[in-house]
Amino acid sequence: MDFNTIKINGDQHGVIVQHIHFKLLAVAILVAALLVCATLAVLYYWQPTHFEFYVTRSTGVIHNRTCIYYGKTRGYYTNQPQGRDCKRCGGRAANQQQ
Ligand SMILES: [Zn+2]
Repeated sequence: MDFNTIKINGDQHGVIVQHIHFKLLAVAILVAALLVCATLAVLYYWQPTHFEFYVTRSTGVIHNRTCIYYGKTRGYYTNQPQGRDCKRCGGRAANQQQ
């Protein structure tokens, strides 16, 4: 019987320690999640609004903000684009008309 009592106490201690570890883990995950969210928000909201045009790197085609390809293809954001205008959105030409 004594062995059983000792064994149970040992398990409870283990549960308490585990509970504290889970608390720390939960706080750590919460902080990490907030950092990831903040980073993603900065990347998502700041980049497109700072630049008028998006240039697809492989083709050099210039897209404006109205285009479905703006920020969607492999390329970069810029205010002084070099290349040819997109046929779909008009690139720089469409922006000058507005
Ligand atoms: Zn375009």
